[in-house]
Amino acid sequence: MKNPNKKNVSAIISASWIFTSGPEDQLLSDYAVVIENDKIIDLVSQKKVFDEYEANNNYQLNNHILIPGLINAHTHSAMSLFKGFADDLPLQDWLNNHIWPAEKEFVNSSFVKDGSILALSEMIKSGVTTFNDMYFFPDATAEAAKELEVRGNIGLVVLDFPTNYATDPEDYLVKGFEFRDKWRNEELITTSIAPHAPYSVSDEAFSLINTYSEELGINIHTHLHETQWEIEDSIDKYGITPIQRLNNLGIIGPSLVAAHCVHLNDQDMAILAKNKVNIVHNPSSNMKLGSGIADVAKMLKQNLNVSLGTDSSASNNRLDIMEEMRLAALISKGSSMLPESIPAKEAIKMATINGAKALGLDSEIGSIEKNKKADLVAIDLSTIENQPLYDPLTTFVYSSSRSDVSYVWINGKIKLMDKKLINMDEERIIQLAKKWQRKLKKI
Ligand SMILES: [Zn+2]
Repeated sequence: MKNPNKKNVSAIISASWIFTSGPEDQLLSDYAVVIENDKIIDLVSQKKVFDEYEANNNYQLNNHILIPGLINAHTHSAMSLFKGFADDLPLQDWLNNHIWPAEKEFVNSSFVKDGSILALSEMIKSGVTTFNDMYFFPDATAEAAKELEVRGNIGLVVLDFPTNYATDPEDYLVKGFEFRDKWRNEELITTSIAPHAPYSVSDEAFSLINTYSEELGINIHTHLHETQWEIEDSIDKYGITPIQRLNNLGIIGPSLVAAHCVHLNDQDMAILAKNKVNIVHNPSSNMKLGSGIADVAKMLKQNLNVSLGTDSSASNNRLDIMEEMRLAALISKGSSMLPESIPAKEAIKMATINGAKALGLDSEIGSIEKNKKADLVAIDLSTIENQPLYDPLTTFVYSSSRSDVSYVWINGKIKLMDKKLINMDEERIIQLAKKWQRKLKKI
């Protein structure tokens, strides 16, 4: 029987701790999040929640911390099929002699769909609810995101050279805008323009991209200052660093999402800070490719918005933002010799609200607040490795790992329950990956 004095809602999630990642950074004890359809409609103490609300789906998550869904702000989902394909190589050798030739032979729409399904299912299990992607055949990535119901900002990739997907910058853009028009009304899908990198995109193409970005009001997502080689190559060809070159072309601004920014001189850093560029820090990928270590503490001091990315599975080899969060904090402390650098709370914000700001989605996601989308993750802190538990925030950042992620909701829908994917056949996904492994092994 429904109680007429209570509001009937979709779900009530009660957790021992809730970190809002909102403007006040609240850590609430014994609170509940109330969900109606796709939205958070209230945040109430557990003592009071059932006086006001009743729900068909009640989750009582003792010894769990509930956080906003994690945001993977830089990835290439489909490349999950290249996980372990070419390891222990520097970026240029890895790209020129391994990844790009394999892409030429194998990458098509079905590769991208299957690779994205593999990547997104791994991301859900790791607490990622939003991904910012850049790859060929974006239609196939969007189809995977729609099928798995994951929030995706998908890049309209642009390169100077031909690939299986397109022939020249104009062709990439035409295909990209067709994709954008087709997916315009899909709730979980947004788009940005994604020129690959300064070394693979010409001045002419960047200028065109800048015009489209301004006209359409959409973000630009690119790789920037990833390696020392990239900077030396730019100085050889243009006499200036890539950041200075892109600044002259009008690309550097608040709508730019720049992955990496590992090597910055003072002038480059000043240009990024002045123009409020969004930076995506990818510590695992930067270390695995031997690219270097970004000075994130300095970026934060300059009030730059720094979020976290995994980059692709081919250079990581995990799509695990919890690991990037822990590494970001540890590497910054180690390299600056300042243990107070990137405290736990700051690391969580990098993995949540900062990613939402970078994607221009911070009015909808990135924190647990009334009227935001119900993208939520619950982490089980009851396990041996999380004891004793003095501080739920530092335990979450420094002790827990993705194997402790037990519940995930995206847009109000439950996607992971008791550590099991909902409505997804895990065995089928493993077999998809094995099918491509057999094909790629022949190279
Ligand atoms: Zn990348």
